[in-house]
Amino acid sequence: MNMTNANIKKEFSVPYYVPVGNEKVIFTAAYNQGLSILLKGPTGCGKTRFVEAMAYELDRPLITVSCHDDLTTADLVGRYLLKDGVTEWVDGPLTRAVREGAICYLDEVVEARKDTTVVLHPLSDYRRQLPLERLGVTLDAAPGFCLVVSYNPGYQSVLKDLKDSTRQRMVAIEFDYPTPEVEQGIVAKESKISSLQAAKLVKLGQAIRRLETGGLREVASTRVLIAAGQLVAEGLSLRDAALAAIAGPLTDDMQVGNGLRKMVEVYLQD
Ligand code: ADP
Repeated sequence: MNMTNANIKKEFSVPYYVPVGNEKVIFTAAYNQGLSILLKGPTGCGKTRFVEAMAYELDRPLITVSCHDDLTTADLVGRYLLKDGVTEWVDGPLTRAVREGAICYLDEVVEARKDTTVVLHPLSDYRRQLPLERLGVTLDAAPGFCLVVSYNPGYQSVLKDLKDSTRQRMVAIEFDYPTPEVEQGIVAKESKISSLQAAKLVKLGQAIRRLETGGLREVASTRVLIAAGQLVAEGLSLRDAALAAIAGPLTDDMQVGNGLRKMVEVYLQD
């Protein structure tokens, strides 16, 4: 079969994503209407992979920013930098996305400094505008631009909740871990282990999730199950892999750690 280069590129770069509900339908509808999107859900449940898949499907460039508590408006929008003795304006990732009509994904947006809402508000409502105060201009977002933010409601302190005025400018899509059957398929494929091995890891993950966080800040995500699977693919036993990739990262607390290690022994005797 004859394929053009573009086809070949498309064929091989398609992000692997298994839909878990109607998230694709909601995203596409919101995107078509120029609405901003809020992805809510625990860490490691597929939000980032989903945005990658949607950017691919909608054929838009994707610009991702991992937000942290030092992230300022200038980091998003841009700043003057000294280059060869002259100051030069350099666009930040948000400005680039606005100019290019890209999908801009702000991962864990509540981590960013509060002042960033000043630029996010006019962008995320009907105005679709980005004020560049330092340049004295306001940019209209190019067609195709879409602001997507993610937020993990479980982890925020009261102080770090997303402001109502921000969330009411967005269409929310709720995420949770996939059903055991779907998750088993994802873990097997992503870590290249057998379905049976993946099923055992998922069973352990499910049991940890049922603990309702007894001392855990976060439960076992799809991401940590995949990491355990990757160790299994390297030849480790399920038990050792789960101790290293699941029990270890989830807690530093001795007692909780002992509890998790016991669960690993019970669920994963080889
Ligand atoms: P989040 O952004 O919610 O923290 P990620 O998108 O990084 O989570 O997901 C973690 C990993 O789990 C991904 O790299 C991917 O391997 C896998 N994953 C989770 N959900 C899915 C899904 N529905 N389809 C395919 N892979 C998934």
